Amino acid sequence: MADPKGFLTTPRQEAPRRPVEERVRDWAEVHVPGGLLPIVGAQADRCMDCGIPFCHEACPLGNLIPEWNELVARDDWRAASERLHATNNFPEFTGRLCPAPCEAGCVLAINQPAVTIKNVEVTIAERGWAEGFVAARPPGRLSGRTVAVIGSGPAGLAAAQQLTRAGHTVAVYERDDRVGGLLRYGIPSFKMEKSQLERRVAQLVAEGVRFRTGVEIGKHLGADRLRARYDAVIVATGATAWRELDLPGRELAGVHQAMEYLPLANRVCEGDLEVSPLSAEGKHVVIVGGGDTGADCLGTAVRERAASVSQLDIYARPGDVRDEAAEPWPTYPKLYRLSAAHEEAGELRTAPAADADARLFAASTLRLTGDADGRVREVHLVEVDAERRPRAGTERGLPADLVLIALGFHGPERRADGLADQLGLGTGERGGFARDATFATEVPGVFVAGDAGRGQSLVVWAIAEGRAAAAAVDRWLTGSTRLPAPIGAH
Ligand code: FAD
Repeated sequence: MADPKGFLTTPRQEAPRRPVEERVRDWAEVHVPGGLLPIVGAQADRCMDCGIPFCHEACPLGNLIPEWNELVARDDWRAASERLHATNNFPEFTGRLCPAPCEAGCVLAINQPAVTIKNVEVTIAERGWAEGFVAARPPGRLSGRTVAVIGSGPAGLAAAQQLTRAGHTVAVYERDDRVGGLLRYGIPSFKMEKSQLERRVAQLVAEGVRFRTGVEIGKHLGADRLRARYDAVIVATGATAWRELDLPGRELAGVHQAMEYLPLANRVCEGDLEVSPLSAEGKHVVIVGGGDTGADCLGTAVRERAASVSQLDIYARPGDVRDEAAEPWPTYPKLYRLSAAHEEAGELRTAPAADADARLFAASTLRLTGDADGRVREVHLVEVDAERRPRAGTERGLPADLVLIALGFHGPERRADGLADQLGLGTGERGGFARDATFATEVPGVFVAGDAGRGQSLVVWAIAEGRAAAAAVDRWLTGSTRLPAPIGAH
């Protein structure tokens, strides 16, 4: 490393976020653009270049983290960009969105704050774009083989790019009007602006990928016709079948699923709508579910100028620090995570909680009640103990005009005579479409990648699955492959 003792002399410093009072007035990303740049070399120099870099293992993509940290410390941005792109098609996505299991695996994290891997990653990616190191790489020659990718989320995009670069002719079918999957209509712009997506899609188009939007396979185009038209098919349709809140009052007006609410807010950012029909403006908002989707609802409701926002989490808060007994290094701490949105709602919270954010921990929803017009007015909850048993005397009501259900997803959507039925896809692990370790289904030439196979997961896993499924398809089409396969399907 440029300074082998960097980890002893330099404290961890993260890319700064814009002040809360400024950022809640717009939809732009929460981080100061290029915020880590002045100190990124010193931060990268905190990497110890471990003999066995556990960060590699922790990253589903196998990102070559010590290598690009060293290149940044040496100010060699072109090489850093190349090494970063060697394992990751879209590092500007993961550098913004990933919860960074690599940082949990960083050896320095045993007794010091981890290297700011994620911030270094996004800084390299942005510098790569700014200096022209990232460009279209169309294939030198075409194989004459054709592949259809169904779904344009990160898994479908990664698979399409890999297969196109390998010389195959790839078409991506997307039922929405725009490309991107959850990056487009799920994840809010304050986490990643849509211009990031557009830039990559333009790169894929320049490399030869063809996008067909507004086409739902199974409805507008039958699966049989698709199979007849292409030599191989990758199903990358995501896992967006949501969990319900099965409680009295669910039917009241003003109670919606998170994924009914967030796409409309994203459409406002796209300029399709002036105001979301479900806007939280002036409303008391209660979000049922303490995870990342709930946090996205929280940040969105704050930006829509809600009167108050509370987020209910049934889990007891285990504390800001890692619970060493439950999650010894280098396992990824799953128990409790703060999102930037949680910094934004303290002022707005009406719920009497001692926490610094808007979440009410160890709270279980009992029922929703409404007014004479059938509109929701109150969410009734009770505090629970570690075994989720109600604690006597803690029942109370929260005012609510908008209730958002963010309880996760139980797998890919299945409709009678839809895509899965037409292809005869079975159900595998975590409710996903059944496939073997090479991403292949029982239907010859049909593969499954991303959340559609794995269940609702992370962008980094979707990219890794897209890359690995592309390698499997290339092998199936040609008998061998030089494409990397960072993971197996199980
Ligand atoms: P998706 O992104 O779901 O894309 C699937 C695409 O397939 C969609 O565009 C869909 O319209 C299309 N499709 C479906 N059926 C058909 C059909 N029959 N014909 C044509 N097209 C079809 N992960 C992170 O790492 N960080 C985060 O901060 C984060 N935030 C999230 C916030 C929310 C609100 C949600 C819901 C998820 C979040 N995730 C996050 C998870 C992450 O977005 C997903 O794991 C990832 O997008 C999965 O990628 P995918 O390509 O498998 O599927």
